[in-house]
Amino acid sequence: MTAAELTTEEIVVLRDAARRDYDDLVAKKLSLDLTRGKPSSAQLDLSEPMLDILQGDHTAADGTDLRNYGGPAGLPELRDIFGPLFQVPSAQLLAAGNSSLELMHDTIVQALLGVMPGAERRWADEERLVFLCPVPGYDRHFSICERFGIEMVPVAMTPDGPDMDEVERLVAADPAVKGIWCVPKYSNPDGTVYSDETVARLAAMPTAAPDFRIFWDNAYAVHHLTEERPEIADILTRCSESGHPDRVFVFGSTSKVTMAGGGVAFFGSSPANVAWFAAASAKRTIGPDKLNQLRHVKFLKDGAGVEAHMRAHAEIVWPKFEAVDKALTEQLEGSDLASWALPKGGYFVALQVLPGTASEVVRLAKEAGIALTPAGATHPYGKDPEDSWIRLAPTVPVLADVATAMAGVATCVRLAGFDKLLADRA
Ligand code: PMP
Repeated sequence: MTAAELTTEEIVVLRDAARRDYDDLVAKKLSLDLTRGKPSSAQLDLSEPMLDILQGDHTAADGTDLRNYGGPAGLPELRDIFGPLFQVPSAQLLAAGNSSLELMHDTIVQALLGVMPGAERRWADEERLVFLCPVPGYDRHFSICERFGIEMVPVAMTPDGPDMDEVERLVAADPAVKGIWCVPKYSNPDGTVYSDETVARLAAMPTAAPDFRIFWDNAYAVHHLTEERPEIADILTRCSESGHPDRVFVFGSTSKVTMAGGGVAFFGSSPANVAWFAAASAKRTIGPDKLNQLRHVKFLKDGAGVEAHMRAHAEIVWPKFEAVDKALTEQLEGSDLASWALPKGGYFVALQVLPGTASEVVRLAKEAGIALTPAGATHPYGKDPEDSWIRLAPTVPVLADVATAMAGVATCVRLAGFDKLLADRA
């Protein structure tokens, strides 16, 4: 039954029941954390053999001694494994340090301080810089923009990716719009997989800025949790076919494949962009950690090796996603207090609660010992104008704790929701 169909007396009864459940929850004195999308210890253990896999081996396929400086593009055999997975020809894919976020940050810094292919001037010399930010989105993307004074304009996500009518309108209207953040597969946090049409429109759309760039953060390229294997369209090819060969920067990493602190990050793009980025990077490093890259090659072996390894992750992670869905369904299905879609990959579930209640849900959960990502983190400047999105990150706690925590969250959603409905009627 929807809230509109309930009498005020009926809502009071439901609110009082939620209050009793909440008091019971607080009495349990829980200490649980659903805040960050990190692999659990059990997931990290899957890659433990990687730590001593080298056994004294330190030689590349071409005979290079990997203990030394050099090889700025990264180990070719690792780029060959990941090129097809990121849909980038391996000659155009750099294997770098341990963090793709670092590469995204550095790309923006290099664009600020140097002239990119197709740019008329350095971004630092532009009067205004604007990035489009599909929401809900990833808070660390927004933090990079905030750090460098890049204005952020939110664009709503749809089940097919960002609202493309709005994106096309904004990029055509204003030359200050220089970029868009995209997490095209199992998006953080709503799990959306971009449709082929969205990818084609992003590649083809006319932009007022000649140096407009898509920051294609394919962080969850291989992170399937079910038997489905959705493949997004190949953005790099689409861009060059549409006459915009330099439009996209592709990023990815093995942070959530092997080890989040000791993985390998990748940068892929057009030959011109790769040459530009590599030349700029050559000033800051004499080469990446190729021994870690060799560890990855020996451990993962090939695309089939990555697939098998990701299945082992899915066995650990998927039951936790199901537990999130079950807890929410049990308490909230059929009410209009919340909505969510269970993603089939990635690391997050996005929960949408009654407008005006997300911060209250997070506060109630905190009081009950359940840490949630702050409400607003899914939006630029930490401000969700509707105060309705909550990002759930269920990977770290063990399964039983995910179930306990999520039952608690569902109770908080009921209490905050019914309180809000009563306040609105008062
Ligand atoms: N992009 C997205 C969308 C992410 O969710 C994360 C991790 N939470 C990252 C990038 C960070 O990746 P890395 O560890 O390679 O810096």
